[in-house]
Amino acid sequence: MRAHASLLHLDLDAFFAAVEQRDKPSLRGKPVVVGGVGSRGVVATASYEARKYGVRSAMSTREARSRCPHAAFLTGRFHAYREASTAVMTLLRSVSPLVEPLSLDEAFIDLEQAGLPDLEVPTVTAFAEELRGRVSEVTRGLTASVGLGTSKFIAKVASDLDKPDGLVVVPPGTEAELLRPMHVTVIPGVGPATAERLRRAGIHTVLDLEAVGLDELVRLVGKAHGTGLFHLARAEDDRAVVPEREAKSVSVEGTYDTDLTDRRLMEGLLTRQAGEVAERLRKHGLSGRTVSIKVRLHDFTTLSRSSTLHSPTDSTATIARLARGLLTDLDTSGGVRLLGVGVSGLADWIQEDLFGETTDEAEEPPEVVEPPSIRRSTWAPGMDVEHAEMGRGWVWGAGRGVVTVRFETAESPAGPVRSYPEDDPQLSAWRPPVTEDEQAG
Ligand SMILES: [Mg+2]
Repeated sequence: MRAHASLLHLDLDAFFAAVEQRDKPSLRGKPVVVGGVGSRGVVATASYEARKYGVRSAMSTREARSRCPHAAFLTGRFHAYREASTAVMTLLRSVSPLVEPLSLDEAFIDLEQAGLPDLEVPTVTAFAEELRGRVSEVTRGLTASVGLGTSKFIAKVASDLDKPDGLVVVPPGTEAELLRPMHVTVIPGVGPATAERLRRAGIHTVLDLEAVGLDELVRLVGKAHGTGLFHLARAEDDRAVVPEREAKSVSVEGTYDTDLTDRRLMEGLLTRQAGEVAERLRKHGLSGRTVSIKVRLHDFTTLSRSSTLHSPTDSTATIARLARGLLTDLDTSGGVRLLGVGVSGLADWIQEDLFGETTDEAEEPPEVVEPPSIRRSTWAPGMDVEHAEMGRGWVWGAGRGVVTVRFETAESPAGPVRSYPEDDPQLSAWRPPVTEDEQAG
């Protein structure tokens, strides 16, 4: 624990839903639920208006619909989320070299290297308030909640205290006082199972936990966990902010507007992506030992699997074979909306091949029919579209051969709604131009 509240945790508020409300003026101030919209869908993020009805992340979409039937249920638009996230992380890295992203919308920042005149409470508070303003500027209006404290643990607790659009500084020396009345689940690592064990031992709050000796805690929850709890209950946390290492990987990924379910199609796509990765490696004289795949399921769960070779490779055939093998271990029966292949553990030399095999067996990428990113029968609610005459808008709903579009963008007022036959040639899916930057891992 430090002497100053120099650890900052920043968390964008209701991130996916906030991006949707920004880009869809008619949804501002209304309940919005982003997630899987199918029968087995799960809520990824609910706007604060939807939370009032009890809609929560990780709840089934079915339950969310019954709690808040008038909400807008939207499928995600990752290009928009990633764009906002990149803008925020770039800003954070410009204020301190020590930035540790936890997810698209959350990061720790160490202010000890932010060049502030001092780290006293008024100084860090003013800095954080200004930073919140700049986050709003670079994201064109998203809000962030910020917490400041003497450790990562306290900073993260603090950012959650006054959500949304809040700023909470926990002055050094007041940590224990803040934590004591809180439920034990405030402590990182105390999930439902641990909480239940503690509850049976009569331990509900952090104050209760503080009264328990180390030996008894170890007996209750095991050695590693017990020791951690003992210290965290006293707000003792010395974890450093670990900046993301420079991206030492090359990757290619694709997102799809309809869930892919055909295994052979997925394998074909992975093979083609492997070819692109290998080509990029060779172009830069690189090779890598670890091949990974990234798979985002229909409910937004993102899985990665990797496999490490004895020696680095830049071979299409090798990367493709490993990537396809990694896919076989995953249950993708519910549908896949993103697939990607990457190679990391890069070396700028290729190990001399002692077995005399040539590096590339020139596997021809199979013929792959591009998945239906523009297939007209699959208009997903929330997706971006463009109409030849009406311009840009988003899918409000679709079914029975008809697609209904609301024509508005972040910069326009709430716009008109029109319906079209779902195969109307004037209507197409809209995607932002893809830059080289976004493609490279
Ligand atoms: Mg958030």
